[in-house]
Amino acid sequence: MKQQYFPYTFFKDKVVKTESANVPIMTNALQYGTGVFAGIRGYYNKEGGFISLFRIADHYERFLNSLKIIDVNLKYNRNELVNITLNLVKKNKPKTDTYIRPFAYAGSTNLSPNLERDKDFDFALYMMPLGDYLPTNKGLSSMVSSWRRVSDNAIPSRAKISGSYINSALARKEATERGFDEAILLTEDGHVAEGSAENLFIVRNGTLITPSQSDDILEGITRRTIIKITSDLNIPVEIRTIDRTELYISDEAFYCGTGVQVAWIGKIDNRTVGTGKRGPITQKVQDLFFNIVRGNEKKYKNWCTKISV
Ligand code: PMP
Repeated sequence: MKQQYFPYTFFKDKVVKTESANVPIMTNALQYGTGVFAGIRGYYNKEGGFISLFRIADHYERFLNSLKIIDVNLKYNRNELVNITLNLVKKNKPKTDTYIRPFAYAGSTNLSPNLERDKDFDFALYMMPLGDYLPTNKGLSSMVSSWRRVSDNAIPSRAKISGSYINSALARKEATERGFDEAILLTEDGHVAEGSAENLFIVRNGTLITPSQSDDILEGITRRTIIKITSDLNIPVEIRTIDRTELYISDEAFYCGTGVQVAWIGKIDNRTVGTGKRGPITQKVQDLFFNIVRGNEKKYKNWCTKISV
């Protein structure tokens, strides 16, 4: 099915019709993946007539950090990026759950990859309707990928760099080709990193465990959200290196990310996770997460930016 997009896009410093936001085939970012991006979700509330953007400022903070890591410039600061986004949402008036994609990229047509020469990145922002990226109501089947997660010293894994997503694409292709819903990638030294486009938690003996920031993960905002809300619930959380075989004997496991939201895992490499049913901690996290992102939890309402549409 062809992906639908909202009619207006921010491109070359102004709002244009989405179909006219085009770049030449020679574009450096298109040839070499010299871009960074973000993904922000907006949750539509029909009764309230608003859309609630989740942790938009935090997404732009990571976006700017990604640019800092690769040492390039963008003419907009965080507040300006937030304002550009709010204005585009108002212009597009989405009446459905929405995904917002900021993209900073080497827009030159220079032949070779050289971030010193292409130091001034362009910026674009577009939006599309998006429901579930993966099912959240069934146990997903996962395989440990034969592809290793890009390491921080190869393509910085904590930056959301376009080119690094060939790593995700290879892992997802392998998994879906073999009949699994999703992949789990290990680090070069064989520890658990994350899914192809989402972070991962397991539960062992009532403790939530997620790989540490130095295990070649993207430092997910959803991951950070879950660490905070479960700590507030006094559920013990460990942030540490996870061995592959811990996946096989975990009581519960789930993916989390802006796209995937919170999606539970039923099987890993054909081993049933726990009882094979959604576990109690996963259930708690999922219920609370969906309430929070839809703006229904007073305690966390600062994470939500509501825009009338
Ligand atoms: N890891 C990778 C590789 C991702 O692409 C994403 C999606 N942005 C995540 C983790 C989850 O990050 P977040 O919760 O910030 O969306």
